[in-house]
Amino acid sequence: MLILGFESSCDETGVALVDASGSATPRLLGHALHSQIEMHQAYGGVVPELASRDHIRRVLPLTDSVMQQAGLPLSAVDAIAYTRGPGLAGALLVGSGVACAMAMALGKPAMGVHHLEGHLLSPFLSADPPEFPFVALLVSGGHTQLMRVDGVGRYQMLGETIDDAAGEAFDKSAKLLGLGYPGGPALSRLAQQGSPTAFKFPRPLLHSGDLDFSFAGLKTAVLTQVKRLANERPEGPATPQLAAALGLAQKADVAASAQAAIVDVLVKKSMAAIASTGLTRLVVAGGVGANALLREQLNAECERRSLRVHYPELHLCTDNGAMIALAAGLRYQAGLMPTTLSEPGYRFDVSPRWPLASVCIAA
Ligand code: ATP
Ligand code: MG
Ligand code: FE
Repeated sequence: MLILGFESSCDETGVALVDASGSATPRLLGHALHSQIEMHQAYGGVVPELASRDHIRRVLPLTDSVMQQAGLPLSAVDAIAYTRGPGLAGALLVGSGVACAMAMALGKPAMGVHHLEGHLLSPFLSADPPEFPFVALLVSGGHTQLMRVDGVGRYQMLGETIDDAAGEAFDKSAKLLGLGYPGGPALSRLAQQGSPTAFKFPRPLLHSGDLDFSFAGLKTAVLTQVKRLANERPEGPATPQLAAALGLAQKADVAASAQAAIVDVLVKKSMAAIASTGLTRLVVAGGVGANALLREQLNAECERRSLRVHYPELHLCTDNGAMIALAAGLRYQAGLMPTTLSEPGYRFDVSPRWPLASVCIAA
């Protein structure tokens, strides 16, 4: 069972081919990715119309590259998966349109995959795949959630952010420091030269007794600190000049302290989720899962408690086609994938705001 997967929900065009034959974990046969980060950088964030147009330009050459890596013709593909949502409507329509057109031309089934299910299952492509059940910490640019995962399609929300996502907190803090977009990786690099205890940033909801998160206050705290260091009035505007008034050491201290606050909350809440479920395995997924400090602290806490912790490979933490093809493969193996053209999954449609709950099977 060869499944070709397309990801185009935001600013990465990803295409991948997996072999989901039998019951072994699906195997990656080819994988290609184009990131639009450079194109959007000039605007300080993703420009949806530019994103859609670039997906159109990239998707077919990437598909050729994937089939070449696998040494197979397109006609060998048995099913086509695409990210149906959540994401930018125009960007999603490119992947969905190409996938469904290709499926129709080949006479093969097409299947809309939930982007977060892709992230969530991406550690299954690593050399050390997890076993069910586990607690999942999903930390991406748009989401921060703790879930109990009992199997493919069996996801129970334990807690989530009530405002900004962890990735957003990284990106917004980085922007205030003049580190460009998306600033998460740059902020974490700069933090290596700073002191994590230089400034005491808030850890909201740390003792709330539930598993929810809140990161909106961190941005304000970072902004206030940056203004203080730049000798600006607290009520003054947040301008790009603020960061320019700071020395490198000051910026590094702000970066290290902000990162420490975000990571501290993520680690403590993950351990609280483990304690409340009684499970012994933690799975981390999403772009922020690439963060070195987060991995270091989670590894230490899990070792102390004799827990197993699993991550996606570094290059599969952020958006990619492999996780979409994989999620389709795992769903197929679990009997959850439509296998004929006439089934409802075979439709040219997208769902920019698609709740994960709607792809769950009853517990
Ligand atoms: P979603 O999946 O919720 O729709 P997304 O697809 O934009 O959002 P991802 O691609 O999973 O999110 O992750 C991107 C985010 O990960 C960005 O916010 C980025 O700054 C952050 N990120 C990537 N690498 C690191 C890192 N090393 N440290 C901290 N943050 C990081
Ligand atoms: Mg991205
Ligand atoms: Fe994503």
